[in-house]
Amino acid sequence: MQRPNDPGFLLVLEGIDGAGKSTLARQIAGQCDALGLASVISREPTDGPHGTALRRSAKTGRLGLDEELDLFLKDRAEHVETLIRPALARGEIVILDRYYFSTAAYQGARGGDPAEIIARNERFAPAPDLVLLLDIDPLGGTGRIRQRGDVPDDFEAESYLAKVRAIFLALSQPCVHRVDAARSADDVFRECAVLVSDALADAGLLSRVT
Ligand code: ADP
Ligand code: MG
Repeated sequence: MQRPNDPGFLLVLEGIDGAGKSTLARQIAGQCDALGLASVISREPTDGPHGTALRRSAKTGRLGLDEELDLFLKDRAEHVETLIRPALARGEIVILDRYYFSTAAYQGARGGDPAEIIARNERFAPAPDLVLLLDIDPLGGTGRIRQRGDVPDDFEAESYLAKVRAIFLALSQPCVHRVDAARSADDVFRECAVLVSDALADAGLLSRVT
């Protein structure tokens, strides 16, 4: 059976802020380079108008749940059409720093139904080939945010993040792999690099290397 994302590959990195998603995205892009595979890193919320409104709300006060969900879906629909699908069609490895599992977890933690949120997304957003769930306890994540020089925002209160983490850990899709993100960045990357190269091989993409 043909893979839905063929000839590209959709890799999603999920986890609370400070888990190490952006760091790992860069490492995996380097791995793709070394394998001779074209890749692109993108993030959600995007820098488009809806994503910008969401980022602003994280600093100035959260929107209502329905309004917030609506903006995430609009932002993602635009991301899918303008970046994700075209890059997959060109045969690229698309590395996403957050996707709809974050919407299920963060909006689920404030009262949405995670399964329903995922189902709404699956109607228009391509399902990933592989999801690496970087798992760390909220104190570990916010500690890294502070070390990075940032102040945790309204999405990052520890009690809220504990619920977010629980929803992430309850994801049961076969493409989701939990990775212990409390270890060093090198150790996390070593484990993820194997998961990525195995998944690329399963997708038949490693044979493209010359
Ligand atoms: P995220 O994108 O998930 O918020 P980042 O990749 O930005 O996380 O990492 C948050 C901070 O923690 C950065 O300063 C980064 O250098 C550092 N960091 C990332 N991964 C690790 C790790 N495994 N161990 C310790 N520090 C890390
Ligand atoms: Mg990041």
